[in-house]
Amino acid sequence: MFGGKWFLSLVIALGLAFSAPQAMAKQDILFGGAAITGVYYQVALQISNIMNKHMGDKYNYIGRPTGGSVFNINALDRVAFDFAVAQSDRNWQGFNGASDWEGKPVQGLRSVFSMHPETVMLVTRKDTGIKSVEDLKGKRVNIGNPGSGQRGNAEDVLRMYGLDFTKDFRAEALQQAEASRALVDQKIDAFFYTVGNPSAALEEPAQSVDLDIIPLNSDAVKAFVVEHPYYIMTKIPADTYRGIDKDIETYAVTATVVTNEEVSEEVVYDMVKTTFENLDELRASHAAFRNLNPEEMLKGLSAPLHPGAEKYYKEKGLM
Ligand code: GLU
Repeated sequence: MFGGKWFLSLVIALGLAFSAPQAMAKQDILFGGAAITGVYYQVALQISNIMNKHMGDKYNYIGRPTGGSVFNINALDRVAFDFAVAQSDRNWQGFNGASDWEGKPVQGLRSVFSMHPETVMLVTRKDTGIKSVEDLKGKRVNIGNPGSGQRGNAEDVLRMYGLDFTKDFRAEALQQAEASRALVDQKIDAFFYTVGNPSAALEEPAQSVDLDIIPLNSDAVKAFVVEHPYYIMTKIPADTYRGIDKDIETYAVTATVVTNEEVSEEVVYDMVKTTFENLDELRASHAAFRNLNPEEMLKGLSAPLHPGAEKYYKEKGLM
């Protein structure tokens, strides 16, 4: 008949089959950034590093390069990512069904916290002679890939300066990493980019060519900024990039970490708590994150807060 040994082996085998894999299973968390030369990718990578360092027994965070804000909001809509970074203006439009989301609001979009400010920029080489937005006429200009946040900003700026990108110049839709290279190689004359400073997308080309950033500060721009709560006028300080030795006036949005309402309260709570408790590590990980502070990180959120984030902020008396 069945001996005790046989029974013992069965118990051990069953025990291994059911408990061991469970004890080892970590939850994969996908975090969408943007172009590898931008700052969003650093947000996704650095928060992933902090999570894997401090909660690596529970989660396996993976930071992904993507096409940018619009791509990220659409991926969150399908719950293809757990977290992603997106511009505050795109979040507002996504949640409220405006612009790219006209008639199809992303109702499940939820805010987690704000990160760094991002300036809307028109970047050129000094040798193109471009000194204003109007000078783009007849040139070759990258207005951004369709999944990016900057493309919508480029369209707004061009409209405010009375230019039509389908007629007045040759518009390109390159991803940012290609656009930076194309500017150096003289394949384009300028690019629009909305990004935190400093960004490798400008630092790298600034090493091999003389860059210029064109101010975006007409009366129309200033009026537009006043009309929209998620825009502010700002300046890119002199010497942020090699060869640009004066302040450049333009407007800015806020980079925001967002999620979907279907992501669990526990996952969001763990991420917010661990990030806030290790904010020094995040601040030190990239120059654009140096000024992060908890109070500011709760401002500028244009989709409703996820309950997991709200739970942590209430616990800490931040709201
Ligand atoms: N603001 C850009 C976008 O929404 C991304 C900038 C970055 O990668 O830092 O697509």
